Amino acid sequence: MLKDSNHCDCSSISNLISHSKPSLSRKEADEVYKLIISGELAQGRKVEEFESEFEKFTGTKEAIAVNSGTSALHLSLLALGIKEGDEVIIPAFVCSALLNAVKYCNATPVLTDINSEDFNMDVKDVKKKISKKTKAVILPHMFGLPADLDTFIELDIPLIEDCAHSVGAHYKNRLVGTFGTISIFSFYATKMITTGEGGMIVTNSRKIADKIRDLREYDNKDFFTIRYNYKMTDIQAAIGICQLSRLQAFIERRKEIARIYTAALMDSGLRLPGVSEGKEHIFFRYIVVTEKEGLDNIIKNAEKRGICLRKPVYKPLSFFITESSCPVTGKIYNKALSIPIYPSLKEEAIDRIVCVLKDIIS
Ligand SMILES: *Cc1c(COP(=O)(O)O)cnc(C)c1O
Repeated sequence: MLKDSNHCDCSSISNLISHSKPSLSRKEADEVYKLIISGELAQGRKVEEFESEFEKFTGTKEAIAVNSGTSALHLSLLALGIKEGDEVIIPAFVCSALLNAVKYCNATPVLTDINSEDFNMDVKDVKKKISKKTKAVILPHMFGLPADLDTFIELDIPLIEDCAHSVGAHYKNRLVGTFGTISIFSFYATKMITTGEGGMIVTNSRKIADKIRDLREYDNKDFFTIRYNYKMTDIQAAIGICQLSRLQAFIERRKEIARIYTAALMDSGLRLPGVSEGKEHIFFRYIVVTEKEGLDNIIKNAEKRGICLRKPVYKPLSFFITESSCPVTGKIYNKALSIPIYPSLKEEAIDRIVCVLKDIIS
């Protein structure tokens, strides 16, 4: 625990505490070794096994593995028939994967603002931006906290749940990713679970799943249409199966770290993640909001003292598409910081992070 919260000696710190880190073990390495010996590297039996494990985990009828979360979004939009002239509603405070996926389909992205409390899409703003051309809403559950799914389902517009941050989180005791018409997951290196790069699409619609499976690969087809090579490899799937079996332990550890942060930073003057009725926060990120000016300087100072802090979103999409006004996104972008949280983060590191944060922010 903290020895002296006012005077932390960080001069002896030689290595930086990274902002995020994957949790890989001997188990993943052994599985990959077995596959390399077997010579079965590309999409095959392991991918099928990963898909069926994912179907079991989510309780959805169909799971389709792909090579990234971005490809998962792209194929989901195509399966919904999104094309030029259609509008797709996405939040402004998110990475540009969503913007790219909409643009791949030549559709029009329509940005909406977020809530300042939970950083998820503001459904009131979504309602203002719905038009006759709106064909889908992509709803990310940001930083591990489920969005208000009920209010989005009521919109009666095809919903793509983006669970890249929130695999394993529950909304009203039901797993996120089981509410949307389609849901997508990302297994990039620093996500909740990883395959290096990778993604998954789940749906209960056989028709949608068939279309996505067809578009995922180009070979052995009887007629030509534009298709992709978005396949996952068996090597990735083998890692993914191990990671999925460890997910619950990862979530427990993340929640434990979050409890330590919340207790230690209670009186720091920072705004901490709140609890919401009916929503399970799995703490993919631990986001604090500071009223202190100069986020870039805070990040630089923390780095000098051995801690890597990050802006939760590198650049909001409202920087790229400037016609929509998203004032809350702009405000949060200037005040929010993501502090290190991952299952392998040690107690000493947590203590040091708390200590430095108190020193430089409060
Ligand atoms: C990471 C991420 C994606 C894209 O996933 P990739 O696997 O990196 O392509 C999409 N949406 C959200 C919310 C993400 O965090």
